[in-house]
Amino acid sequence: MELVFATNNKNKIQEVQALMPKHISIIGLRDIGCFEDIPENKSTIKGNAIDKVSYVVDNYGYDCFADDTGLEVVELNGAPGVYSARYAGEQRSAKDNISKLLKALKGKSNREAQFTTVIALHLHGQLTSFTGICKGDITTGVSGTGGFGYDPIFKAKGYHKTFAEIPLEEKNNIGHRGKAVAQLIDFLNKKTI
Ligand code: IMP
Repeated sequence: MELVFATNNKNKIQEVQALMPKHISIIGLRDIGCFEDIPENKSTIKGNAIDKVSYVVDNYGYDCFADDTGLEVVELNGAPGVYSARYAGEQRSAKDNISKLLKALKGKSNREAQFTTVIALHLHGQLTSFTGICKGDITTGVSGTGGFGYDPIFKAKGYHKTFAEIPLEEKNNIGHRGKAVAQLIDFLNKKTI
């Protein structure tokens, strides 16, 4: 069967498809003729993931799942959190976001942070969500060229390298998104769909 992943990010679709049970084929928003930006106006990560799913169900009538991620910094009371993508402005620049965050934490000793991914799934009229968390620390400078977003300034607990310095496979094993996807797959494997 086909299941819609409410994203247009080809890398995310490939990544998740590789982990899915063989009988489930992942398709993206373009494949169902959805080319608009789905609004993300909620004040929580989970709220945004559910909104994306509801948008697809309401407007296109497909079962689907969606993910939403935020970086929560303890010293900043959980910011940037749900605003992680546009922390430094609507241009959604990773470089600007990193600069702003390093500035906000300048001289601070508590650099604890966590990535949280929520995946919402609408299947056969039932809404379910899965949460993956990766705890770590924000570095004082940028290191590494891999990954994306805040990866060059995030070190997972117990790691001496940033997410931008470790192989993608390793990041997926310990990372927020990988943990949430694992729960989604476990759920789908137990369902007869
Ligand atoms: P999204 O919900 O996946 O679009 O993520 C929101 C924002 O969080 C992105 O624009 C990135 O800046 C950041 N982000 C999400 N996932 C990661 C990650 O795995 N590493 C670093 N930054 C991330």
